[in-house]
Amino acid sequence: MALVNALPSDFSDGDLPKVPADAPAAGPRVWGEAGTGRVVIVSNRVPSPSEQGATAGGLAVALADATTKGSMWFGWSGRRVEETSEEASIVLSEAGVTFATIDIAERDYQRFYNGFSNGALWPLLHYRTGLLRFNRPDYQAYRTVNRAFARALLPLLRPDDLIWIHDYQLMPLGMELRALGVENRIGFFLHVPFVPPSFLQVLPPADELVAALSACDVIGFQTAADADMFLQNVTESLGVQPQRDGRYPYHGREVAVISTPIGIDAMKFVKLAERAALTPEAARLQESLSGRKLVLGVDRLDYSKGLPQRFDAYGRLLYAYPQHRRAVNFLQIAARSRQEVGSYQSLRRELDRRAGDINGEFSDFDWVPLRYMTHPVNRNALAGFYRRANIGLVTPLRDGMNLVAKEYIAAQDPEDPGVLVLSRFAGAADELTEALVVNPVDADEVAAAIHQGLVMSLEERRARHEALFRKVCHTTARRFCETFLAHLRVQP
Ligand code: ADP
Repeated sequence: MALVNALPSDFSDGDLPKVPADAPAAGPRVWGEAGTGRVVIVSNRVPSPSEQGATAGGLAVALADATTKGSMWFGWSGRRVEETSEEASIVLSEAGVTFATIDIAERDYQRFYNGFSNGALWPLLHYRTGLLRFNRPDYQAYRTVNRAFARALLPLLRPDDLIWIHDYQLMPLGMELRALGVENRIGFFLHVPFVPPSFLQVLPPADELVAALSACDVIGFQTAADADMFLQNVTESLGVQPQRDGRYPYHGREVAVISTPIGIDAMKFVKLAERAALTPEAARLQESLSGRKLVLGVDRLDYSKGLPQRFDAYGRLLYAYPQHRRAVNFLQIAARSRQEVGSYQSLRRELDRRAGDINGEFSDFDWVPLRYMTHPVNRNALAGFYRRANIGLVTPLRDGMNLVAKEYIAAQDPEDPGVLVLSRFAGAADELTEALVVNPVDADEVAAAIHQGLVMSLEERRARHEALFRKVCHTTARRFCETFLAHLRVQP
């Protein structure tokens, strides 16, 4: 997952923040304790107070669920303008959160966002080196925008703020802040997977990025495997051998590498799903199914999500298990994203073609097996759709976490729950082991899992759901934030 569908942002300049005078000379120091010191979240997109909710992406949703009074959220406004703003626009939300955003120059945005972030880093970090497009001007713009973020954030910082940077668009930001003299504790969390050195080294500035991240005090990943791969890159790129606990020295500081899975506000989602089942959208969906079972996929339209392979697997289900023909509907909601990037346009055409093939092959005059839509659905309706779905199909080829998997579990009726079919390559598969875990490239295996879910006894569905729901309630968005911030607060 990554902060993608969300919303607005910031920038500015001023005096250098100072380390608090009462900092002890030696021994562990705890920052931001007992209500002192703000948490300053920095992400590419910032959900404006009014925009939170309806269309926000994974990170936006998780952080919005966990953002508390007194914190500040800094990032891009979503506006592309002639010149990048030098000062942030500031809005205080009703909940007491300060939103500080800047506008970015169109010429930088294209290269920073579509170019380096989503044309090079995103495919690389999802193991798709064949889709990676690298050029120097894009990388320079990436560095320029990160520098602009640092300059705009600097005057807003207070000496005891904890700075928490999010995701692959902002890997050099910690280093840029240090270059401006910022001595605050800085944390970075990567919401997408990480790759071993043999992949990262394909990117020409690989070593520079590992060094830039090492300006942070804490670097967090979704899974232990991702953290371990980053540590391998520390050795490869920096020639430093980390300790077994994931710490390593760099430029006079000690960097801590940790893993902590992101989650959702499970109980809030349960309530949303209970209410959503009564919405007009849920009623329309129910009516349209005419009593048939529902297989549901909900994703951003992205090549990491394994959508062509998922369509193929559904085709295999109808072919190999004919008892499900006319008895099941597959609804794929694949919200359009990053449409300016070429690989996303070709993915869309590919899906159009495969959906046409399946419907052409199996449709009847009164039954269309696959419904595929590319506009987003609001969260209320979505929660109701999850609850109605007999199968939640979450089969990415690679995913940092995949919050949809957790939302699907939280939305189920515990008395009559649906079954989650989950890719072993989603970060969520580390935790959600009671799902039907599949290899997403194996159409026969995925088809067999959908079949197994469709015919599974109520007793087994309840047992699996109970175990999964407990986990989703345990690793919530709030716990994710608390765990990361607990690491960030303690200075060795
Ligand atoms: P990613 O961050 O890569 O988009 P995640 O599964 O981690 O993937 O998070 C996606 C978030 O966006 C979830 O909160 C989900 O509800 C929401 N979302 C994903 N796809 C859609 C869609 N098609 N329509 C509406 N919301 C969506």
